[in-house]
Amino acid sequence: MAAKFSIGNRIRALFQARRAEASLYDELEDLLIEADVGASLAVELVGELKARTAKERPRDESGVIAILKELMNVHLRPGEPVLKHDALNVFLVCGVNGVGKTTSIGKLARYYQKNAGMTGIVLGAADTFRAAAIDQLVVLGERLGVRVVRQAPNADPGAVVYDTLESAKNRNDALVIIDTSGRMHTREYLVRELAKIHKIIGGRTGPHTLYHKLLVIDTTTGQNALRQAEVFHDALGIDSLLLAKFDSSAKGGIAVAIGRNLGLPFSFVGTGESLDDLQPFNREAFLDSLFNGV
Ligand code: GDP
Repeated sequence: MAAKFSIGNRIRALFQARRAEASLYDELEDLLIEADVGASLAVELVGELKARTAKERPRDESGVIAILKELMNVHLRPGEPVLKHDALNVFLVCGVNGVGKTTSIGKLARYYQKNAGMTGIVLGAADTFRAAAIDQLVVLGERLGVRVVRQAPNADPGAVVYDTLESAKNRNDALVIIDTSGRMHTREYLVRELAKIHKIIGGRTGPHTLYHKLLVIDTTTGQNALRQAEVFHDALGIDSLLLAKFDSSAKGGIAVAIGRNLGLPFSFVGTGESLDDLQPFNREAFLDSLFNGV
C-alpha cells in the first residue's frame, strides 16, 4: 500500500530544497490543493500563513507547520451527537451511493452497543430504491443483533421511516438509525424526497428527542465531497459529517474545505471496512494524520 499523503513531510522537503520564499509559498499552495483543500482555500490559507510567519518569524519549518495546523484547526469543529438518556434518539443518515453510508450505519450501531452498552437500536431501511441496500442493511442487522424495519423495494421511503419510528416507540428503543437513498438524479428530486422524510421525523419527534441529520462523505473523493455537502446541507440542514474512508488513500483536506465553507461539525471518522473501524472525530488526531500521514 502506498504511504499516506503527508503534508508535513512534503513541507519539510520544500524547506530542505531551499526555495526562494515566493516560490516556496506557491509550492505550498499546490501542495494544499493536492491535499484536497481546494484552490480558493489553499490561496486563503497560504495568505494567512504568510501574514503570520512575517509577524511571528518561526525559526524553522516545524514552526511553519504548527501555524498552518492552527489555521486549519479552526475549521475542524468536532460535533459528536450527544445522545439523550431515557428518550428516543433518531439519526437520519444521508449520502450519495458508494460513499460508505450503509457500512457507516452498521458501524454507528456497533459503536453505541460497545461504548454506551446500548441495546434498543433499530435500523430503518428507507433506501427503498435499491433492493440491494435493503438486503445489505438486513445482513448488518443480523450481524449486530439489531432489528431492521423494512418494506418491499420501491415502497415509499416515508412509510418506512414512519414504521420505524412507530416500532421504536412501541418497544421503547433508544436509537433509530435511518438509511436513505443516495440517488442524486436531480437536486430537486433529492430535496423533495428528503424533505418528506424530514417532515415525517419532525412530526414524530419533539424537544425531548435527539434528531440528528448525519451526512456521510467519502474522504477520498476530494472536491466532489464539498459539492455533495452543499447540496445535502441546503436540502436538509446537516448536523454533522461522518468522514468515511479516512484510511488508505484519503488525504483529508476536503474536511477543512467543508468546515470552512459550510461551518459544519464532524462527528465520526471511518477508518476501514470492518464494523469496528469508526472513531469519534478528534481534530488533533485528524490533523496529525493529515500532516504526518499516519
Ligand atoms: P453506500 O452505497 O454509501 O451505502 O456504501 P457502502 O456502505 O456499501 O460502502 C461502499 C464501499 O466502501 C464498501 O466496499 C465498504 O466496505 C467501503 N467502506 C465503507 N466505509 C469505509 C471506510 O471507512 N474505509 C474503507 N477503506 N472502506 C469503507
